[in-house]
Amino acid sequence: MFSMKYNYGSDINSGSYTGSQSASRAESKATSLESQVKRLRADLARSLMISEALWELLRDRAKLTEQDLHKKLYEIDMRDGVLDGQNKRKAQKCPDCKHMVSSRHSVCIYCGKVMDDSVFAI
Ligand SMILES: [Zn+2]
Repeated sequence: MFSMKYNYGSDINSGSYTGSQSASRAESKATSLESQVKRLRADLARSLMISEALWELLRDRAKLTEQDLHKKLYEIDMRDGVLDGQNKRKAQKCPDCKHMVSSRHSVCIYCGKVMDDSVFAI
């Protein structure tokens, strides 16, 4: 037998959202998210173009090859032990106080030791 966990119909007249208000809010949220995705895609395309320009300048001036670039990308990708196109940082033990520190924190939250000063940490 079908049973509803929540009774949505009972509070229609008690100040909560009606079905059409909820649909309207959901539509507005979807439009906003779509706009954010468009902006992120544009930002990503620009970042890729800048990376490409920097690579070509470096390649031409330092006489590097595409093989050099692929070798370096592989090395960086494997720093986290997984070949997945990302360099994910993991929780680390603080060398000073020995607490585990999440990769979200660039500084040990227990003692203040700088854990990751890389400009590429996300
Ligand atoms: Zn610490």
